[in-house]
Amino acid sequence: MRLQIAQIGEQVLREQAGELSREEILSAKIQALIEHMRDTMRNAPGVGLAAPQVGVPLQLAVIEDREEYHRKLGAAQLHERQRQPIPFHVIANPRIVSADKSSLEFFEGCLSVAGYAAIVPRAPAVTVEYMNEQGESKRVEAIGWYSRILQHEIDHLAGVLYVDRMRTYTLTTLENLERYWKDLRTTDVLAKLKPQVENRGH
Ligand code: ZN
Repeated sequence: MRLQIAQIGEQVLREQAGELSREEILSAKIQALIEHMRDTMRNAPGVGLAAPQVGVPLQLAVIEDREEYHRKLGAAQLHERQRQPIPFHVIANPRIVSADKSSLEFFEGCLSVAGYAAIVPRAPAVTVEYMNEQGESKRVEAIGWYSRILQHEIDHLAGVLYVDRMRTYTLTTLENLERYWKDLRTTDVLAKLKPQVENRGH
């Protein structure tokens, strides 16, 4: 079943989501929610979907980066983003226990900010502890695009959206991203889009 995806401006996207117990994760209700979130993510399509995005304020997200999504990207882009297929999985009550101090900047979008993208700095590597859909404790050391997906989804569970972290002047419609920016290096995009007028503090 496909669920409706909440758009920016809905309060549920700005709330701290609640933790799930192991019993709750295993409940028929949450198992059904996971299935519906998976269907909704694949239909969108997207590489991640957090429960608050479907109106449920719980610390739960689904992630999947399929090879077919990579066909539009060139080999250089995939390499630069360290983007590789990630099998479908569930993260419940995730915690970032360590993060690389440096940052990498790439365009990023969100199903709850439909039609837009912006350059967002993210840690290139994170270690995350979470529970899977069986309620088992897991720990993953993620690098590259997977690390970005995890940070984006975990932000959702704390009411944070990429627009809170983006370089504001890089906000673009997906149409214009496709038309002008997608094949440029991040440094070139930043140089071209940086406002030429003095910021007057508005
Ligand atoms: Zn999102």
